[in-house]
Amino acid sequence: MSIAPTESPLATRIDGKACAERVLAEVAADVASLAADGIVPGLAVVLIGEDPASQVYVRNKLRKAEAVGIRSLEYRFDDTLPQAELLSLIARLNRDPEVHGILVQLPLPDHIDEDAVIQAVDPAKDVDGFHRQNAGGLWQGLPVLAPCTPTGCLRLLKETCGELAGQHAVIVGRSNIVGKPMAALLLAADCSVTMLHSKSRDAAALCRQADIVIAAVGRPEMLDADWLKPGAVVIDVGINRIACDGDGERRHRLVGDVDFDAASRVAAAITPVPGGVGPMTIAYLMQNTVTATRLQRRQASAAALA
Ligand code: NDP
Repeated sequence: MSIAPTESPLATRIDGKACAERVLAEVAADVASLAADGIVPGLAVVLIGEDPASQVYVRNKLRKAEAVGIRSLEYRFDDTLPQAELLSLIARLNRDPEVHGILVQLPLPDHIDEDAVIQAVDPAKDVDGFHRQNAGGLWQGLPVLAPCTPTGCLRLLKETCGELAGQHAVIVGRSNIVGKPMAALLLAADCSVTMLHSKSRDAAALCRQADIVIAAVGRPEMLDADWLKPGAVVIDVGINRIACDGDGERRHRLVGDVDFDAASRVAAAITPVPGGVGPMTIAYLMQNTVTATRLQRRQASAAALA
């Protein structure tokens, strides 16, 4: 589908749930073809502590793994787990031929060095795509395991915009897990890419030049209509929990980094929160687990021939 500025007063709502179901159907077909060769992809998920959001993410990931036929192994620990024990678990999972993907749910407790944990995962099993070998390879255009959230955003953009070559994409946020890999993927798709961050001057004016806007800031509804060119396509990565009143009691609701209602009156298309990027992240975790399985099979065959 190609989106162009229209007379329509409201932007098209980009349905991340429906797109994620399409990705998951592709993954399930791939898992079935591996099963014909007697291979069952295995995903180990490690959760430390009681962070409620992390618990929900892990539960959703395990459910989706089961739904597509990926065997999942769950490792839960309380937040006093010593770093050395976590690293020795990762070393064991790295050696286990039935484990093809390893995901350590972030954030980790303060006493654990997050980078040490990320770098301890075998890059061939790094289904989050956070290891330096994968991060560097992504910038060099190599076929590595790329982070799930930006890969999901790219799929949404391809399905929404069609051709991406030559489009000007502005990414608000430069984190290692979203903003930077998103820039690498959009460059590889021949977009012109601008990255904004907390020190950018006139960020809204720069963003208004974009055909495509990716918001990955972590600030509730920071981007309003003033940040958008009419007809822009907007991908809202942010997940922010804000307090609100509901039925007389204090409740929370999720909002993105973009003011959805205001942006909908200017943009051509926009992802909602929830129901936009979130489901795509999980779908591409499943895709990465299958990709990792095939990668390790190729490595094993090459090692056998050597
Ligand atoms: P980080 O906190 O790691 O990065 C935030 C980025 O936003 C930084 O680069 C920061 O700049 C930039 N920033 C902060 N304030 C401003 C500002 N006023 N103007 C411009 N840039 C600013 O966040 P993450 O990338 O990890 O996550 C971003 C959001 O995406 C969060 O809401 C998170 O929950 C969500 N998320 C959603 C996922 C999903 O599956 N949907 C997956 C991962 C994240 P600087 O570098 O200068 O500090």
